[in-house]
Amino acid sequence: MKISVRVLSTVFLSWTLFGCATVNEDYNPSLKHHRPDGFQNNYTDATDKSGLEVLKWMWSRQRDSLPKPPQRQTPVVSPDIEFVRANKGESQVPAITWIGHATMLVQMGGLNILLDPVFSDRVSPVQFAGPKRYQPPGISLQDLPHIDLVLISHNHYDHLDTGSVRALNSQAGGPPLFVVPLGVRKWMIGEGIENVRQMDWWENLLVKLPNGELDVHFTPVQHWSSRGIADRRATLWGGFALFAADFHLYFSGDTGYSQDFLDTQRYFAERQTTEFGGGFDVALIAVGAYEPRWFMKEQHVNPQEAVQIHRDLNAKRSIGVHWGTFDLTDESLDQPPIDLAVARETAGLSRQDFDVMAIGQTIKLPKRAVAGTK
Ligand code: ZN
Ligand code: ZN
Repeated sequence: MKISVRVLSTVFLSWTLFGCATVNEDYNPSLKHHRPDGFQNNYTDATDKSGLEVLKWMWSRQRDSLPKPPQRQTPVVSPDIEFVRANKGESQVPAITWIGHATMLVQMGGLNILLDPVFSDRVSPVQFAGPKRYQPPGISLQDLPHIDLVLISHNHYDHLDTGSVRALNSQAGGPPLFVVPLGVRKWMIGEGIENVRQMDWWENLLVKLPNGELDVHFTPVQHWSSRGIADRRATLWGGFALFAADFHLYFSGDTGYSQDFLDTQRYFAERQTTEFGGGFDVALIAVGAYEPRWFMKEQHVNPQEAVQIHRDLNAKRSIGVHWGTFDLTDESLDQPPIDLAVARETAGLSRQDFDVMAIGQTIKLPKRAVAGTK
């Protein structure tokens, strides 16, 4: 049984090897990353793997019984639900709460924002097979405050979860605004979710709600997308840069290491307005799902490369996400923070500069100086 679950997990991670048989309805021939049938990366599409490479990975994964069980549990703390629910309006302080994997509750600009919400037990097209959750969500869907904005980095099952987005869409007090990559809006509409905006790389969306305001930018990263057979790279993927008067945040989504992060840093530095001034207060960078390197390198950074992204972005502080929750790849669930500690030390960074959180933990962060800034 264990073997069959492992095989299924691997298949779900890589089952769309058969190219792309779709039409890109948003195709713009003047943009380098657009293709008639989908999208491509800025620097390499070696994120695509052949069937032979997938088989080789599946075989070695079974042969070596990977991933090995973790030696220690992912740190978990009781959430401060009272604080999270009360942290709104004029008195809101910037705060981030790790719910698990890449799912993060971000409170800034007066708004409650969920990144890549995944609350289901499995990250797979079906709930009876596929990678299973090791730790329950740090905050349950029922305990969340009213969510204003949901940001989806790409349509992989561990980032876009049908049950979660449906539940959020029917939350008490009305649906949030869903912001998704180009091509994903159609899927959301198919799920009955209509309050959706889709974004291309380098586009921005000013979200103005009665309780707050936020400038959302969608930025390039090196990854891919798919949810079914023959839809590889049919919809876009990316990271988010969020600018509010009180806080600036970056979220990588899933990515391999590329020049996209220097490009992102330069893009905002060149537009050194009061709005973008001072760079990112916090960058949330994926640090898990990176072994084996020969297969994963182009699509998932390891902690060492995550540290380089932290530097490329010139972020004041970074937090590692996308680990400790689902067994997706060959490293053990508890390996990312161990490798991150080594990478941090090699780079001469402190724990404060780049660390991980406990599931359920909330970090309160200082507000930016308001004088003269938006
Ligand atoms: Zn992904
Ligand atoms: Zn992922």
